[in-house]
This record gives sequence, C-alpha cells and structure tokens, in this order.
Amino acid sequence: MASKNSLSLLHEYGGDSSEDEVSGPRVSTKRTFREDEENPHSGPQFKRLPVPSICSNASKEPECIDDPSLHDGRVRSFPHERGNWATFVYIPFEATTGVTDLLAFIQEIVPENLDLKISDNFHISLTKTVVLKYHWITPFVQGVKENIKLFRKFFILFDSIQVYCNEERTRTFLGIQIKSGHDSLIKLVQLLDRCLLEYGLPVFYKDPSFHLSIAWCVGDKKETLQTYLPKINQKFSELMQSHPQEEFYIYVNSLLCKSGNKYFQLMLN
Ligand code: AMP
Repeated sequence: MASKNSLSLLHEYGGDSSEDEVSGPRVSTKRTFREDEENPHSGPQFKRLPVPSICSNASKEPECIDDPSLHDGRVRSFPHERGNWATFVYIPFEATTGVTDLLAFIQEIVPENLDLKISDNFHISLTKTVVLKYHWITPFVQGVKENIKLFRKFFILFDSIQVYCNEERTRTFLGIQIKSGHDSLIKLVQLLDRCLLEYGLPVFYKDPSFHLSIAWCVGDKKETLQTYLPKINQKFSELMQSHPQEEFYIYVNSLLCKSGNKYFQLMLN
C-alpha cells in the first residue's frame, strides 16, 4: 500500500519537495546553474509540474506540540519529532460509578508515595502506540475503516484487576482484564495488524492481555502493586454485585483511532 502510493507519487512528482517531511524516494532539487540562462530544460515546454497535493500538504502539517510537564512525568517511548504522530487504535470507555468507586478504594489503600494517577482516557488498546508520518494518517485510517467495516458489533465483559508494565518499564498500570469478547478482540487485532504491516509498523502483542487501564504510576512498580491485588479484586467483586451489570461491560459498535490530537471513529457493522 505504502509502496504503491510512493510509486504513484514518484510518477506524479515534478517539483520541490518538503524533504524533511516527505518520506520515500528523494529527488534532489538542488540547481547547479541558473535556470533562465544556462539550463537547456528551462524553456516553457519544460515548465515544472505542480507538486502533488499530498506532498505540499505535508509542509502545511499542523505541529502536534508536546509538553512533558503536562503529562505527570511520563517518559516518551520515542522522541517527539516534527512529522511523527503517535497513533493507536482502541475501544473507548466512559467511566461508570462502579469503576470510579473502585478507583476511590484503590487510592485509599495504595501508599501515597507511589503517586498513583487515575487514567485520563479510559480505553482498551487494540494496537501499540505507533509512529505515523502526517501524510500517512488519512490513508492509514481509510485502510482500517475498509478492513473492519464488515466486522460485527460485539460485547466485552470485565473480569479481574491485573498489573501491567509498559515495554520500557517506565510506567506501571492497574488494568481491568477482559473476560469474554476475547475471540472478537483477537480477530480485530489481526485485521489491524495487517494494516500496520502495510506501513512497516509494529504489530500488537503476540499474546495479548486485553485490559482497561484505570490507574498508573511512574517506574516499574509491578511487585509492589501486585501485593494489593487480592484486596482490590475482593472490592471489585463486591462492586460487581452491588452495581448494575451494564457498568461492567461494553457494547463495542465502533473503535477510535487517535493520531496526535486528531480522533477518527471507525464503525463496526
Ligand atoms: P494500555 O493502557 O493499553 O496502554 O496498556 C498499558 C500497558 O500494558 C502498555 O504499555 C502495554 O505495554 C502493557 N502490556 C504489557 N503486557 C501486555 C499484553 N500482553 N497485552 C497488552 N498490553 C500489555
């Protein structure tokens, strides 16, 4: 897909490129002589073609500026560079009373020095966070939409709380593991992996543990947090008994793709 686009762009290509933002084959635009006098190819018949809009738009790319001080000390997994848009696909979730009650309990029992923070965007990840070039966002989203549009809507049910660490071991998460709906999630991940591979991007975990992260802290605090799991899971079972059942499942009828500060809704069938 990406290579097919590159070839057609190369075919269309005829002018100056914004070289720091447009990837793929580079064509030198340096001039070694004055166009009007010495260049035999500078007459009206050799007028340069306009730059394809997909390239010229790349130079008009709005920058997604990041300020780490606004992110509670989170360490970036990859450096922020102009043209790199952190992107991932997920199932969104609106916090329910059952979940916020659980979080209140967790904050009471875990030590303050862990500085546990509540997640600000509840979701179930279906891809890792990958880096997309700005001009890949539209075709990538389009590709994902095409691939999942026939996928049937489905339910997922929450199970128990688990502790997760990110790959760099710079953050530790408390997440609600998913019980049923696992087969559908695996099939969705396969479709999404296929889209990611077309752009040479990393696929999801080989052995995914689907979960909804509800809280996190800086560093690898897996061992410490695991000691609190029995109490947290006990409380979670009680809340599941006392709160309406629908607070602990999700009807998945669409996914979201977040790329930088842009959001795209991807409908299921
Ligand atoms: P998320 O809230 O989806 O960003 O997930 C929190 C962290 O869980 C991510 O940084 C993942 O690296 C981590 N994680 C660790 N093991 C797994 C796994 N088997 N499946 C999914 N996520 C995992």
